[in-house]
Amino acid sequence: MKDIRDITSEELQEFVVQAGEKPFRAKQINEWLWKKGAGSFAEMNNIGKGLQEKLKESFSFHRASIEVEAKSGDQTVKFGFRLHDDKMIEGVLIPAGQRVTACVSTQVGCAMHCAFCATGQMGFIRNLHFSEIFDQFILMNQKAVEYYGNPISNIVYMGMGEPLLNIQNVLKSIDLLTSPEGQGLSPQRITLSTAGIIEGIRKLADLGFKPGLAVSLHSADPLTRLRIMPVTKSNPLDKLQEVLKYYHQKTGERVTFEYLLLNGINDSQRDAEVLAAYCRAFPVKINLIEFNATDSPFQKSEPENVRKFIQFLESRNMVVNLRRSRGKDIAAACGQLVKLAH
Ligand code: SAH
Repeated sequence: MKDIRDITSEELQEFVVQAGEKPFRAKQINEWLWKKGAGSFAEMNNIGKGLQEKLKESFSFHRASIEVEAKSGDQTVKFGFRLHDDKMIEGVLIPAGQRVTACVSTQVGCAMHCAFCATGQMGFIRNLHFSEIFDQFILMNQKAVEYYGNPISNIVYMGMGEPLLNIQNVLKSIDLLTSPEGQGLSPQRITLSTAGIIEGIRKLADLGFKPGLAVSLHSADPLTRLRIMPVTKSNPLDKLQEVLKYYHQKTGERVTFEYLLLNGINDSQRDAEVLAAYCRAFPVKINLIEFNATDSPFQKSEPENVRKFIQFLESRNMVVNLRRSRGKDIAAACGQLVKLAH
């Protein structure tokens, strides 16, 4: 049986007409699916019981569900979602003032194997369908209103998985979140984060990608980066730099580099110099991320080294932010997301 959210608008239209209904019913169903974020046929209360029944007989409805929730002392909430095939993924809500940021996953597991990341240790299981990315938003949005009195204002594609290795579903989900037929959010409130998949970045550039792009750089030194991020082998730093230059030319946008500070690995004065030199090719913003403990030998940088690192970059007129870590007490912080059950 096909899933209702896995058919095209044309197929839906055809089904509706064959069921002896007026074509506008297809539009109503689409509205239920993507504008109202319905999770079942039963909710579609303006299409008639007969059509509801026929839909139920002909299609499955793969809706993710919240299976577990963990609330942090800092109000961050981590959700474990169960998918139709019983796989689990995680998403996180991070409130800050009036803002609520949702962090969504794009894959079950991840193939990147970054040495410092818990998801990386799971390995890759499967890609998420665009409706599964969409469901994370819908379900967490309801919770955001309930818990903080505000809906989600920002979405970051920074949960489990590598978005650019599931680019079709990721782009389709962004489309559904931003289009007027969907959730109508501004693309400027969305950020996609990649470990640096060159072909994917080129594709985004050619498409005139509207959301923000963040690249998890973590080191601008080829050997160091290769050691902590094996993706560097097939996506070398010089080629990455070239494609980011191209991205900037095409979109006019400034890319954000995420830089995780690891004690004794990438936090020396020399590392800062190499980073500054690497960034000379195009305008960037640096987000320094504090390392969140995982089952790995790494440790976060000493405060004194963090201070010096920032000072050096600022002396080179670079835009630097130090990101405070959120949700650490519930293992909801960057790099701590793993499947909770099989
Ligand atoms: N695959 C994508 C998105 C998921 S990871 C990417 O690599 O960008 C989201 C961010 O969390 C990345 O910058 C990642 O490098 C970072 N991260 C991973 N493990 C971490 C850890 N233990 N502490 C802090 N940040 C971590």
